[in-house]
Amino acid sequence: MEIFFLGTGAGMPAKLRNVTSIALKLLEERGAVWLFDAGEATQHQILHTSIKPRRIEKIFITHLHGDHIYGLPGLLSSRSFQGGESEVMVYGPKGIKEYIHVSLSLSQTYLKYPLTVIEIDEGVIFEDEQFTVEARLLEHGIPSYGYRIVEKDRPGTLLADKLKEAGVQPGPIFRKIKNGESVTLEDGRVIEPGEFVGPDLKGRVVAILGDSRYCENALMLARGVDLLIHEATFSKGEEKLAHDYFHSTTYQAADIAKRAGSKKLCLTHISSRYDRNDWRELAEEAQEVFPNTEIAEDFKEITIPPIK
Ligand SMILES: [Zn+2]
Ligand SMILES: [Zn+2]
Repeated sequence: MEIFFLGTGAGMPAKLRNVTSIALKLLEERGAVWLFDAGEATQHQILHTSIKPRRIEKIFITHLHGDHIYGLPGLLSSRSFQGGESEVMVYGPKGIKEYIHVSLSLSQTYLKYPLTVIEIDEGVIFEDEQFTVEARLLEHGIPSYGYRIVEKDRPGTLLADKLKEAGVQPGPIFRKIKNGESVTLEDGRVIEPGEFVGPDLKGRVVAILGDSRYCENALMLARGVDLLIHEATFSKGEEKLAHDYFHSTTYQAADIAKRAGSKKLCLTHISSRYDRNDWRELAEEAQEVFPNTEIAEDFKEITIPPIK
């Protein structure tokens, strides 16, 4: 499970920061990539990475501001020419359906794969045997969602050596025990899975938030997460400006991470008013409140290791 930043700037593209798009790489977990937002030229950014557009399974849109969606129609269209045949599901606020439909139909774009667009409300918007995704509204002038991605706990590893010592040979019995079934051997002994399977592997939790002022729902989404990705459009001291433009400062993002008990914070959606020489200072402002903070850059990757 890795986070890969395709674009980390606010409002409009800058030389060193393209507009927002974040990939959650779940290649080991499900052979898939999930995208969060697709600002203009997201597909160009992808060309510089190992991400295969055909692997993109889901796209979550936080809100309909241009710097988060202008790259979507092009990306969807190109995927058809890049071997994309599997279904793509797009989740986003009300209006996302019309935006995609108008863009694709007026340009007479025909996709070679099924596309499903889901206009979401708050709550659990996706769940399968591996993951749950929950959405909550933030504060941003137009509806802007934050997403909390929860990996479900998985059964622990099979203690194969211990089983062999007990005289059980590898085969279908191993699978049954791994799946939590108790097994009666030919000699009448009963093998209980509890003794031969390690503890459950804890699932990881990531929160990826759209543009927002400091708000309580951000806190809810960030509670106890392994990684919080929060916008920090402005530097500490610009709280008035942040409030007026429905954004957050470095300090506010760090305060959310601290209050929520997040384990790690990454700041993104950085205004182009700050150049490369300012980035370290932005990170340090947050680190004063929440030490385990990084600042995103285009093409930066953060691994979220399995929880021991
Ligand atoms: Zn934005
Ligand atoms: Zn916005």
